[in-house]
Amino acid sequence: MEFATFAARARTIEAESADLEIVAHVTSILEDAGEDVEIVARFVQGRVFPAWDSTTLDVGPSACYEAIARAAGTNVSADDVESRLAEVGEIGAVAAGYDFGGQQGLSAFGGDGDGEDDLTVREVHDRLAELAAAEGDGSHDRKIDLLFGLFNRCSSDEARYLARIVLSEMRIGVGEGSVRDAIAAAFDVPDDRVERALQVSNDYGRVARVARDEGLEGLDAIDLAVGRPVQAMLAQAGTVTDALEEWDEAAVEWKYDGARIQLHYDPNGIETETANGEGGSTRVFSRNMEDVTDALPEVDEFAREALGEPVILDGEVVAVDDEGEPLPFQEVLKRFRRKHDVEKARENVSVRPVFFDCLHVGGDDLLEEPLTTRHERLEAVLAANVETTDPADVEALSLLWLTDDADEIESIDAEALEAGHEGIMLKAPDSTYSPGRRGKHWRKRKPDVETLDCVVTGAEWGEGRRATFLGTFELSIRDGDGEDLRSAGSAVKPRNLETVGKVATGISDETLAELTELLEPHVVAEDGQTVDLEPSVVFEVGYEEIQTSPTYSSGYALRFPRFVGVRHDKNPADADTLERLESLRDE
Ligand code: ATP
Repeated sequence: MEFATFAARARTIEAESADLEIVAHVTSILEDAGEDVEIVARFVQGRVFPAWDSTTLDVGPSACYEAIARAAGTNVSADDVESRLAEVGEIGAVAAGYDFGGQQGLSAFGGDGDGEDDLTVREVHDRLAELAAAEGDGSHDRKIDLLFGLFNRCSSDEARYLARIVLSEMRIGVGEGSVRDAIAAAFDVPDDRVERALQVSNDYGRVARVARDEGLEGLDAIDLAVGRPVQAMLAQAGTVTDALEEWDEAAVEWKYDGARIQLHYDPNGIETETANGEGGSTRVFSRNMEDVTDALPEVDEFAREALGEPVILDGEVVAVDDEGEPLPFQEVLKRFRRKHDVEKARENVSVRPVFFDCLHVGGDDLLEEPLTTRHERLEAVLAANVETTDPADVEALSLLWLTDDADEIESIDAEALEAGHEGIMLKAPDSTYSPGRRGKHWRKRKPDVETLDCVVTGAEWGEGRRATFLGTFELSIRDGDGEDLRSAGSAVKPRNLETVGKVATGISDETLAELTELLEPHVVAEDGQTVDLEPSVVFEVGYEEIQTSPTYSSGYALRFPRFVGVRHDKNPADADTLERLESLRDE
């Protein structure tokens, strides 16, 4: 297809706002694309490479401005291009505004110089691929030369879309859904099967070609490939109550506070399809399908030690200290995209992988299998080289608990926080793996919406390494207007405080030490590990919901209470009341 034809069609699509019309235009451009259908299916989305391929052109805007300026003629500079951009606001319009009729140096830059040298989409694609591959000394100039060679042969509309493709600013209103629907319409295949093929391949070009040339049978034969990343399944926020109501039983996992990774491993070596891949047996991809293998050598080491067959695993990489205790998320970021001095960075922060899902093992694609089956396969894969029957002993395995009991979920949440993780994930046990979807089947426990300011009226001394700290704080709210508290004086146990729960989670050792210092002077009675505190300190506390409960004197209990901070600016008399609690409960 000539690039001019593509540009003219792109202009028509851009002028259209109705979704159905856009799909109809994309359908017809795919039908007419002939041998270039793969490229056209990507170009309409402004992509040069398949979605799974994180190769970039690696040309900054200034190199693009320079190429445009050179093609525009001797009296135009990159600065002129930039100032036009500031006026017009969009690089396509700027490029389209120049007259590139000069045809300078065609023979040097790919044309045959006979004046009938029309660009084709394939030629644009091949030159851009060449440009992406240029590296090392002189590559910057080479990239500008290649771009100049292309712009130099462009008409106004061609330049508009070339500039936009180069700077990843296509914006003609063609989303992934439009291309999916257009492929289905153009080649007469069901859109859900196109969707499936796209999910496993992440390659619109290939799916379009296969749909056209091989029909449904070909589409259905597109499988996952070790070495080619899949989009990650994502989570919605949700509550334990809703999850249990909808699913009867929930799969509960710890939520690790790290960065998402997808591990591709093949002991016989990966025939990598990524342009920047270097083979080997391991490839690690980020949530955005970027290749981060080299930044995380620990994952490769783990894979080679623990795994025996080809797999695609979904998980998280967490930063850990010398004792293997998790470090905050920011520490992972220091390692995640690092390109240089990886070994040095590793000395400061090391990472370890944890896996919670298995998408492919030993030739089987598992996306359509229920979560529980995928998890069993995951466990078997990770336990291949260890002699144990206890999943808790399997390195890098994220445990999964199946339960319909909210109290059990609460204690799993508490354990996760205690171990330094973020909390829990709730998943539908029967759910399939939906790449790229933020569906209802994966829920991160909802962040606390409201907080309550509670008076601390008791505590317990900790155990083991926390024996010198007060922990497990009893929380109370006021029943009344607070007058009693104001007049009661410090030594009197107030009558108008009612208990609503205990908070023990979400508190670091450092904070526990500070809280102990703050609260210890207010201990009025001690019974074994339990202490009574005179009301003096107010905690801000998050929670998931308020339930009626016979356990606490208020008649209510906070579900999943967690410590947010000390309200140094508040006295017990300013703490929240039973009235507010009841109104929050009714909301
Ligand atoms: P978002 O995905 O909402 O844009 P985010 O990247 O901060 O934001 P969250 O939605 O808060 O992530 O949580 C989902 C993320 O939690 C996953 O992408 C994954 O990185 C991480 N995670 C940690 N443990 C698990 C687990 N057991 N199962 C699934 N995801 C987990």
